[in-house]
Amino acid sequence: MRYIAGASVVLDTSPSLLFHCRIRRRKLGASGRRLVMTSVNSRSQPRESEDGIISVEEWRRWGPVSPFPATVKQIVNDLKVLECKLDSPIEFGGNGGKLQGPFGAYEDKKHRATYEALDDPEKKFRFFSARQVACRLLGSRGYLCQKCWLAMEDCMCSYIKPCGLWKQIRFWLYMHPRDFLRQNNTGKLLWQIFGVQSATLCVFGIAEDEEIMWNEFKRAGKNQVRCLYPNQNSEVTFSVKDTFGCSASENPGSSSMTDEDKTLHFILLDGTWNNSAAMLKRLKDHAKSVWGDEDLPCISLAAGASAMHKLRPQPSWDRTCTAAAAIGLLTELSLLPQLSSYELDKQADAVEEGLVILLDSLTGRRLRMGRSITRKGRNTISIC
Ligand SMILES: [Zn+2]
Repeated sequence: MRYIAGASVVLDTSPSLLFHCRIRRRKLGASGRRLVMTSVNSRSQPRESEDGIISVEEWRRWGPVSPFPATVKQIVNDLKVLECKLDSPIEFGGNGGKLQGPFGAYEDKKHRATYEALDDPEKKFRFFSARQVACRLLGSRGYLCQKCWLAMEDCMCSYIKPCGLWKQIRFWLYMHPRDFLRQNNTGKLLWQIFGVQSATLCVFGIAEDEEIMWNEFKRAGKNQVRCLYPNQNSEVTFSVKDTFGCSASENPGSSSMTDEDKTLHFILLDGTWNNSAAMLKRLKDHAKSVWGDEDLPCISLAAGASAMHKLRPQPSWDRTCTAAAAIGLLTELSLLPQLSSYELDKQADAVEEGLVILLDSLTGRRLRMGRSITRKGRNTISIC
Protein backbone atom coordinates (compact mmCIF):
# COMPACT_ATOMS: atom_id res chain seq x y z
CA MET A 1 0.00 0.00 0.00
CA ARG A 2 1.22 3.46 -0.73
CA TYR A 3 -0.27 6.56 0.73
CA ILE A 4 0.58 9.92 2.14
CA ALA A 5 -1.01 10.86 5.42
CA GLY A 6 -0.51 13.90 7.58
CA ALA A 7 3.10 14.78 8.13
CA SER A 8 4.60 11.43 7.32
CA VAL A 9 4.92 9.40 4.17
CA VAL A 10 4.48 5.65 4.27
CA LEU A 11 5.84 3.80 1.31
CA ASP A 12 6.24 0.26 0.21
CA THR A 13 9.54 1.24 -1.36
CA SER A 14 13.04 1.27 0.08
CA PRO A 15 13.70 2.21 3.73
CA SER A 16 16.25 4.80 2.64
CA LEU A 17 13.60 6.63 0.65
CA LEU A 18 11.28 6.62 3.62
CA PHE A 19 14.03 7.99 5.80
CA HIS A 20 14.84 10.66 3.27
CA CYS A 21 11.23 11.81 3.09
CA ARG A 22 10.91 12.05 6.82
CA ILE A 23 14.07 14.10 7.13
CA ARG A 24 12.95 16.45 4.42
CA ARG A 25 9.57 16.94 5.99
CA ARG A 26 11.09 17.65 9.34
CA LYS A 27 13.18 20.41 7.83
CA LEU A 28 10.16 21.90 6.14
CA GLY A 29 8.12 21.46 9.28
CA ALA A 30 10.35 23.92 11.07
CA SER A 31 8.54 26.75 9.42
CA GLY A 32 5.21 25.23 10.44
CA ARG A 33 4.03 24.87 6.86
CA ARG A 34 5.22 22.94 3.92
CA LEU A 35 5.81 24.33 0.48
CA VAL A 36 4.04 22.01 -1.90
CA MET A 37 5.15 23.52 -5.14
CA THR A 38 7.10 26.27 -6.68
CA SER A 39 5.90 28.48 -9.43
CA VAL A 40 7.21 29.62 -12.73
CA ASN A 41 6.24 32.26 -15.26
CA SER A 42 3.68 34.61 -13.81
CA ARG A 43 3.31 32.59 -10.67
CA SER A 44 5.79 34.46 -8.58
CA GLN A 45 4.25 33.62 -5.23
CA PRO A 46 5.03 30.14 -3.91
CA ARG A 47 1.94 28.36 -2.80
CA GLU A 48 1.66 26.68 0.51
CA SER A 49 -0.55 24.05 1.94
CA GLU A 50 -0.78 22.12 5.16
CA ASP A 51 0.03 18.89 3.34
CA GLY A 52 -0.05 17.28 -0.07
CA ILE A 53 -3.41 15.61 0.34
CA ILE A 54 -6.49 16.75 -1.52
CA SER A 55 -9.64 16.24 0.52
CA VAL A 56 -13.09 15.69 -0.92
CA GLU A 57 -13.99 19.16 0.37
CA GLU A 58 -11.10 20.71 -1.55
CA TRP A 59 -12.10 18.75 -4.65
CA ARG A 60 -15.70 19.91 -4.46
CA ARG A 61 -14.81 23.53 -3.91
CA TRP A 62 -13.55 23.53 -7.51
CA GLY A 63 -17.06 22.61 -8.74
CA PRO A 64 -17.45 18.81 -8.95
CA VAL A 65 -20.21 17.05 -6.99
CA SER A 66 -18.52 13.62 -7.04
CA PRO A 67 -16.37 11.98 -4.39
CA PHE A 68 -12.67 12.68 -4.94
CA PRO A 69 -11.88 10.29 -7.84
CA ALA A 70 -9.74 7.31 -6.87
CA THR A 71 -7.58 7.50 -10.00
CA VAL A 72 -6.86 11.20 -9.45
CA LYS A 73 -6.06 10.57 -5.80
CA GLN A 74 -3.58 7.85 -6.76
CA ILE A 75 -1.79 10.13 -9.22
CA VAL A 76 -1.65 13.02 -6.74
CA ASN A 77 -0.13 10.66 -4.20
CA ASP A 78 2.34 9.30 -6.75
CA LEU A 79 3.41 12.84 -7.70
CA LYS A 80 4.00 13.74 -4.07
CA VAL A 81 6.00 10.54 -3.52
CA LEU A 82 8.06 11.28 -6.61
CA GLU A 83 8.72 14.80 -5.33
CA CYS A 84 10.14 13.29 -2.17
CA LYS A 85 12.15 10.71 -4.03
CA LEU A 86 13.71 13.21 -6.41
CA ASP A 87 14.05 15.93 -3.81
CA SER A 88 13.04 18.23 -6.61
CA PRO A 89 9.98 20.42 -6.16
CA ILE A 90 6.95 19.97 -8.37
CA GLU A 91 6.87 22.92 -10.75
CA PHE A 92 3.92 23.99 -12.82
CA GLY A 93 3.74 26.61 -15.47
CA GLY A 94 2.24 27.65 -18.75
CA ASN A 95 -1.44 27.28 -19.38
CA GLY A 96 -3.01 24.86 -16.94
CA GLY A 97 -1.11 22.31 -14.98
CA LYS A 98 1.82 21.47 -17.19
CA LEU A 99 4.71 20.09 -15.20
CA GLN A 100 8.06 21.76 -15.77
CA GLY A 101 11.67 21.77 -14.62
CA PRO A 102 13.70 18.69 -13.63
CA PHE A 103 10.69 17.19 -11.90
CA GLY A 104 8.59 17.64 -15.04
CA ALA A 105 11.24 16.03 -17.24
CA TYR A 106 11.48 12.97 -15.01
CA GLU A 107 7.73 12.66 -14.50
CA ASP A 108 7.14 12.96 -18.23
CA LYS A 109 9.16 9.81 -18.91
CA LYS A 110 7.57 8.04 -15.98
CA HIS A 111 3.96 8.75 -16.92
CA ARG A 112 4.59 7.87 -20.56
CA ALA A 113 5.95 4.50 -19.47
CA THR A 114 2.91 3.94 -17.23
CA TYR A 115 0.59 4.86 -20.09
CA GLU A 116 2.33 2.55 -22.55
CA ALA A 117 2.19 -0.35 -20.10
CA LEU A 118 -1.60 -0.16 -19.86
CA ASP A 119 -3.11 -2.76 -22.18
CA ASP A 120 -6.68 -1.54 -22.39
CA PRO A 121 -7.62 1.67 -24.32
CA GLU A 122 -10.22 2.51 -21.67
CA LYS A 123 -7.58 2.29 -18.94
CA LYS A 124 -5.21 4.45 -21.01
CA PHE A 125 -7.92 7.03 -21.49
CA ARG A 126 -8.84 7.11 -17.81
CA PHE A 127 -5.20 7.43 -16.85
CA PHE A 128 -4.81 10.35 -19.27
CA SER A 129 -7.86 12.14 -17.82
CA ALA A 130 -6.92 11.50 -14.22
CA ARG A 131 -3.35 12.74 -14.74
CA GLN A 132 -4.58 15.92 -16.41
CA VAL A 133 -6.96 16.58 -13.53
CA ALA A 134 -4.35 15.72 -10.87
CA CYS A 135 -1.76 18.08 -12.38
CA ARG A 136 -4.28 20.86 -12.70
CA LEU A 137 -5.45 20.43 -9.12
CA LEU A 138 -1.91 20.61 -7.75
CA GLY A 139 -0.86 23.37 -10.14
CA SER A 140 -3.86 25.57 -9.36
CA ARG A 141 -3.86 25.10 -5.61
CA GLY A 142 -3.46 28.40 -3.83
CA TYR A 143 -3.14 30.17 -7.17
CA LEU A 144 -6.63 30.10 -8.66
CA CYS A 145 -9.86 31.05 -6.88
CA GLN A 146 -11.70 27.76 -6.40
CA LYS A 147 -15.03 29.23 -7.47
CA CYS A 148 -14.27 31.29 -10.56
CA TRP A 149 -11.02 29.55 -11.61
CA LEU A 150 -9.30 32.91 -12.09
CA ALA A 151 -6.02 33.91 -10.46
CA MET A 152 -6.76 35.10 -6.91
CA GLU A 153 -5.99 38.70 -7.79
CA ASP A 154 -8.54 38.58 -10.63
CA CYS A 155 -11.33 36.87 -8.62
CA MET A 156 -14.69 37.93 -10.04
CA CYS A 157 -16.92 36.05 -7.60
CA SER A 158 -18.26 39.16 -5.89
CA TYR A 159 -19.66 40.42 -9.23
CA ILE A 160 -21.56 37.26 -10.14
CA LYS A 161 -25.28 37.35 -9.43
CA PRO A 162 -26.76 33.92 -8.73
CA CYS A 163 -29.98 33.13 -10.57
CA GLY A 164 -32.39 30.22 -10.31
CA LEU A 165 -32.62 28.01 -13.40
CA TRP A 166 -36.10 26.76 -14.24
CA LYS A 167 -36.34 23.59 -12.16
CA GLN A 168 -37.19 21.38 -15.10
CA ILE A 169 -33.85 21.99 -16.78
CA ARG A 170 -30.53 20.59 -15.70
CA PHE A 171 -27.28 21.30 -17.55
CA TRP A 172 -24.39 18.87 -17.58
CA LEU A 173 -21.01 20.39 -18.42
CA TYR A 174 -19.25 17.45 -20.02
CA MET A 175 -15.78 18.93 -19.79
CA HIS A 176 -12.58 17.79 -21.41
CA PRO A 177 -9.86 17.40 -18.74
CA ARG A 178 -7.65 19.88 -20.60
CA ASP A 179 -10.36 22.50 -19.99
CA PHE A 180 -10.67 21.73 -16.29
CA LEU A 181 -9.53 24.73 -14.19
CA ARG A 182 -8.80 26.83 -17.25
CA GLN A 183 -9.20 30.51 -16.57
CA ASN A 184 -10.81 31.15 -19.93
CA ASN A 185 -13.31 28.30 -19.63
CA THR A 186 -16.88 29.63 -19.72
CA GLY A 187 -18.76 26.45 -18.76
CA LYS A 188 -17.88 27.10 -15.11
CA LEU A 189 -20.10 30.21 -15.22
CA LEU A 190 -23.18 28.00 -15.38
CA TRP A 191 -22.76 26.45 -11.96
CA GLN A 192 -21.49 29.72 -10.52
CA ILE A 193 -24.78 31.29 -11.56
CA PHE A 194 -27.29 28.43 -11.34
CA GLY A 195 -25.63 26.24 -8.68
CA VAL A 196 -24.13 22.78 -8.99
CA GLN A 197 -27.47 20.98 -8.79
CA SER A 198 -28.78 22.84 -11.86
CA ALA A 199 -25.51 22.92 -13.82
CA THR A 200 -23.30 19.99 -12.96
CA LEU A 201 -19.71 19.36 -13.94
CA CYS A 202 -18.80 15.96 -15.37
CA VAL A 203 -15.17 15.55 -16.42
CA PHE A 204 -14.71 13.41 -19.53
CA GLY A 205 -13.09 10.13 -18.50
CA ILE A 206 -13.47 10.53 -14.73
CA ALA A 207 -15.47 7.47 -13.69
CA GLU A 208 -17.05 8.95 -10.56
CA ASP A 209 -18.38 11.97 -12.49
CA GLU A 210 -19.63 9.94 -15.43
CA GLU A 211 -21.39 7.48 -13.15
CA ILE A 212 -23.32 10.25 -11.39
CA MET A 213 -24.36 11.74 -14.72
CA TRP A 214 -25.46 8.45 -16.26
CA ASN A 215 -27.37 7.40 -13.16
CA GLU A 216 -29.41 10.58 -13.52
CA PHE A 217 -29.96 9.92 -17.23
CA LYS A 218 -31.10 6.35 -16.56
CA ARG A 219 -33.54 7.63 -13.96
CA ALA A 220 -34.88 10.30 -16.30
CA GLY A 221 -35.13 8.10 -19.42
CA LYS A 222 -33.82 8.65 -22.92
CA ASN A 223 -36.60 11.03 -23.88
CA GLN A 224 -35.50 13.51 -21.26
CA VAL A 225 -31.83 13.69 -22.32
CA ARG A 226 -30.44 15.87 -25.10
CA CYS A 227 -26.90 16.60 -26.15
CA LEU A 228 -26.37 20.07 -27.56
CA TYR A 229 -24.04 19.53 -30.46
CA PRO A 230 -22.31 22.56 -31.89
CA ASN A 231 -22.46 21.42 -35.50
CA GLN A 232 -25.90 21.80 -36.97
CA ASN A 233 -24.86 19.85 -40.04
CA SER A 234 -23.89 16.72 -38.17
CA GLU A 235 -25.83 13.55 -39.02
CA VAL A 236 -28.57 13.40 -36.48
CA THR A 237 -29.37 16.65 -34.79
CA PHE A 238 -32.71 18.32 -34.40
CA SER A 239 -33.56 21.90 -33.77
CA VAL A 240 -35.00 23.07 -30.46
CA LYS A 241 -38.27 23.81 -32.24
CA ASP A 242 -38.47 20.36 -33.81
CA THR A 243 -37.73 18.71 -30.50
CA PHE A 244 -39.91 20.69 -28.15
CA GLY A 245 -42.05 22.83 -30.37
CA CYS A 246 -45.01 20.52 -30.81
CA SER A 247 -47.29 18.92 -28.29
CA ALA A 248 -46.87 15.33 -27.17
CA SER A 249 -50.14 14.38 -28.89
CA GLU A 250 -48.77 15.52 -32.25
CA ASN A 251 -45.43 13.88 -31.70
CA PRO A 252 -45.50 11.09 -29.13
CA GLY A 253 -41.70 10.74 -29.23
CA SER A 254 -41.09 14.35 -28.29
CA SER A 255 -39.93 15.40 -24.86
CA SER A 256 -42.32 16.74 -22.35
CA MET A 257 -41.11 20.04 -20.96
CA THR A 258 -44.21 20.95 -19.04
CA ASP A 259 -44.78 17.72 -17.18
CA GLU A 260 -43.96 18.74 -13.63
CA ASP A 261 -42.31 15.45 -12.72
CA LYS A 262 -39.88 15.56 -15.62
CA THR A 263 -36.54 17.27 -15.72
CA LEU A 264 -34.90 17.74 -19.07
CA HIS A 265 -31.17 17.07 -19.05
CA PHE A 266 -29.01 19.00 -21.50
CA ILE A 267 -25.42 17.89 -22.07
CA LEU A 268 -23.09 20.70 -23.12
CA LEU A 269 -19.83 19.51 -24.65
CA ASP A 270 -17.20 21.66 -22.96
CA GLY A 271 -14.03 21.15 -24.95
CA THR A 272 -12.34 22.27 -28.13
CA TRP A 273 -13.89 21.54 -31.49
CA ASN A 274 -11.24 18.87 -32.10
CA ASN A 275 -12.08 17.11 -28.85
CA SER A 276 -15.84 17.31 -29.17
CA ALA A 277 -16.13 14.41 -31.65
CA ALA A 278 -14.41 12.02 -29.21
CA MET A 279 -16.55 13.30 -26.36
CA LEU A 280 -19.74 12.79 -28.34
CA LYS A 281 -18.62 9.30 -29.35
CA ARG A 282 -18.10 8.32 -25.71
CA LEU A 283 -21.56 9.61 -24.85
CA LYS A 284 -23.10 7.70 -27.75
CA ASP A 285 -21.32 4.47 -26.85
CA HIS A 286 -22.57 4.80 -23.30
CA ALA A 287 -26.09 5.61 -24.48
CA LYS A 288 -26.03 2.48 -26.60
CA SER A 289 -25.02 0.34 -23.65
CA VAL A 290 -27.79 1.84 -21.53
CA TRP A 291 -30.65 2.20 -24.00
CA GLY A 292 -29.80 -0.31 -26.68
CA ASP A 293 -29.29 0.41 -30.34
CA GLU A 294 -30.70 3.87 -30.49
CA ASP A 295 -28.55 6.95 -30.71
CA LEU A 296 -28.16 9.66 -28.14
CA PRO A 297 -30.63 12.39 -29.08
CA CYS A 298 -28.77 15.51 -30.22
CA ILE A 299 -30.00 19.02 -30.85
CA SER A 300 -28.36 22.07 -32.33
CA LEU A 301 -29.23 25.74 -32.23
CA ALA A 302 -31.40 27.06 -35.05
CA ALA A 303 -28.70 28.92 -36.89
CA GLY A 304 -25.71 27.37 -35.19
CA ALA A 305 -23.21 29.88 -34.00
CA SER A 306 -24.98 32.79 -35.64
CA ALA A 307 -28.28 32.29 -33.82
CA MET A 308 -27.16 34.42 -30.94
CA HIS A 309 -25.97 37.14 -33.22
CA LYS A 310 -29.46 37.56 -34.62
CA LEU A 311 -31.09 37.54 -31.24
CA ARG A 312 -28.64 39.75 -29.44
CA PRO A 313 -27.21 42.64 -31.40
CA GLN A 314 -24.32 43.47 -29.05
CA PRO A 315 -22.26 40.31 -28.92
CA SER A 316 -18.56 40.75 -28.41
CA TRP A 317 -17.47 37.23 -27.66
CA ASP A 318 -16.97 34.09 -29.63
CA ARG A 319 -20.37 32.60 -30.23
CA THR A 320 -19.17 29.06 -29.97
CA CYS A 321 -18.06 29.17 -26.34
CA THR A 322 -19.91 26.93 -23.91
CA ALA A 323 -21.70 29.69 -22.01
CA ALA A 324 -22.87 31.22 -25.30
CA ALA A 325 -24.29 27.83 -26.31
CA ALA A 326 -26.28 27.75 -23.07
CA ILE A 327 -27.47 31.33 -23.67
CA GLY A 328 -28.56 30.37 -27.19
CA LEU A 329 -30.39 27.30 -25.98
CA LEU A 330 -32.23 29.12 -23.17
CA THR A 331 -33.14 31.91 -25.58
CA GLU A 332 -34.54 29.51 -28.18
CA LEU A 333 -36.49 27.66 -25.51
CA SER A 334 -37.90 30.94 -24.18
CA LEU A 335 -39.40 31.59 -27.61
CA LEU A 336 -41.55 28.44 -27.45
CA PRO A 337 -45.09 29.50 -26.48
CA GLN A 338 -45.55 26.73 -23.92
CA LEU A 339 -42.40 27.82 -22.09
CA SER A 340 -42.91 31.55 -22.24
CA SER A 341 -43.86 31.90 -18.59
CA TYR A 342 -40.72 30.37 -17.10
CA GLU A 343 -38.46 33.42 -17.56
CA LEU A 344 -35.88 31.50 -19.53
CA ASP A 345 -34.89 34.73 -21.25
CA LYS A 346 -33.92 36.22 -17.86
CA GLN A 347 -31.90 33.12 -17.10
CA ALA A 348 -30.13 33.56 -20.44
CA ASP A 349 -29.46 37.20 -19.50
CA ALA A 350 -27.89 36.10 -16.20
CA VAL A 351 -25.39 33.91 -18.09
CA GLU A 352 -24.73 36.72 -20.53
CA GLU A 353 -23.95 39.09 -17.65
CA GLY A 354 -21.60 36.50 -16.20
CA LEU A 355 -19.86 36.15 -19.53
CA VAL A 356 -19.32 39.91 -19.73
CA ILE A 357 -17.83 39.90 -16.22
CA LEU A 358 -15.50 37.01 -17.11
CA LEU A 359 -14.40 38.76 -20.27
CA ASP A 360 -13.72 41.98 -18.34
CA SER A 361 -11.63 40.05 -15.82
CA LEU A 362 -9.60 38.33 -18.55
CA THR A 363 -9.13 41.63 -20.38
CA GLY A 364 -8.06 43.37 -17.16
CA ARG A 365 -5.50 40.66 -16.49
CA ARG A 366 -4.10 40.93 -19.98
CA LEU A 367 -3.70 44.68 -19.67
CA ARG A 368 -2.14 44.42 -16.23
CA MET A 369 0.40 41.96 -17.54
CA GLY A 370 1.37 44.39 -20.24
CA ARG A 371 -0.10 42.46 -23.14
CA SER A 372 -1.70 44.55 -25.80
CA ILE A 373 -5.38 44.71 -26.50
CA THR A 374 -5.89 45.42 -30.15
CA ARG A 375 -8.47 47.65 -31.74
CA LYS A 376 -10.86 44.76 -31.71
CA GLY A 377 -10.45 44.75 -27.95
CA ARG A 378 -12.25 41.90 -26.32
CA ASN A 379 -12.41 39.88 -29.47
CA THR A 380 -8.73 39.10 -28.98
CA ILE A 381 -9.43 37.31 -25.71
CA SER A 382 -9.69 33.60 -26.27
CA ILE A 383 -12.46 31.87 -24.35
CA CYS A 384 -13.87 28.41 -24.64
ZN1 LIG B 1 -13.42 33.86 -7.52
